[in-house]
Amino acid sequence: MIKMDVSFAAGAFLFAAFVVFYVALMWCEHYQGVDNFDVNADLTDHVRQCPYCGHVCVDYLHRKILRCSICSSYTEEDDA
Ligand SMILES: [Zn+2]
Repeated sequence: MIKMDVSFAAGAFLFAAFVVFYVALMWCEHYQGVDNFDVNADLTDHVRQCPYCGHVCVDYLHRKILRCSICSSYTEEDDA
């Protein structure tokens, strides 16, 4: 049987628990992101204005075709 100090055993257990927690955190961080959601981009890159009613909305998903929530018209990315 291996003789081990109690404080060493507690330290080893806490270190192992930390390693497991860190790996789980990195695993979740890697797999939870949506591909085209860019949270670090500038806000002005996402602002689009409807050419028909002038409604301004923020499109975080960079959709090619956006439907206006006020007049229900569809606008392409190049129209705005
Ligand atoms: Zn509109």
